[in-house]
Amino acid sequence: MTGETPKQYRKLVICACRLYHKIPSAVLDEAVKAAASEGVPCEIVPDLCLEAVSDMNPCDAALVLACQTRAVRAMFGAETDCLDAQKVSPEALREAIRALAVPPDWVPWFPVIDETRCVNCGKCADFCMFGVYEKKNDGHFRVVHPAACKTDCPACARICPANAIIFPKSREDRLNGALDEPVKPSPDDQTSFRERLEYRKKVRLFRDKMR
Ligand code: SF4
Ligand code: SF4
Repeated sequence: MTGETPKQYRKLVICACRLYHKIPSAVLDEAVKAAASEGVPCEIVPDLCLEAVSDMNPCDAALVLACQTRAVRAMFGAETDCLDAQKVSPEALREAIRALAVPPDWVPWFPVIDETRCVNCGKCADFCMFGVYEKKNDGHFRVVHPAACKTDCPACARICPANAIIFPKSREDRLNGALDEPVKPSPDDQTSFRERLEYRKKVRLFRDKMR
């Protein structure tokens, strides 16, 4: 061993957008190939939004696929669950990966506030019936209960006067943060009739559940 410090790489983290499929698979493949050929550490997470609201550390790998399993365990601990990539059959690999899958009981659909745009008017907190937003001691409104947000409901983003509310999984550029400049709500861009009906239905179901 020499005294040289190994070169440090920044890690590439790729969101696979497992539920909304917004990452083109060609881009994903290309990124993985480029990272492997450049020697850049690369991690694919199934859904970055889910990581954002969980305490999971994405580096705590539950299953490692690598060569030389004894060496991997010697480096990372005897308990490391490791499959030998040079010996495992495709069937055993698929089976092992299938066994890791946990069916999603919550879709990570929730709003995030762009603080550079938010004007602290409180309309989001007034509007949402599910307690997703709250005014904090510093006077700023925050998303405090993301899991209470109703999947595919983007209603509060439409009433925000500063276009500060982002739903990363929305397909609408007006709502998913794709637009560099804020777009103020206009009479043509109000919550659609269908969305209002869906929102009212969700509120009704929520109240029934609370009774
Ligand atoms: S409605 Fe928009 S501008 Fe007003 S507090 Fe909520 S996020 Fe901020
Ligand atoms: S999308 Fe609907 S449920 Fe979610 S925070 Fe906004 S109003 Fe509340």
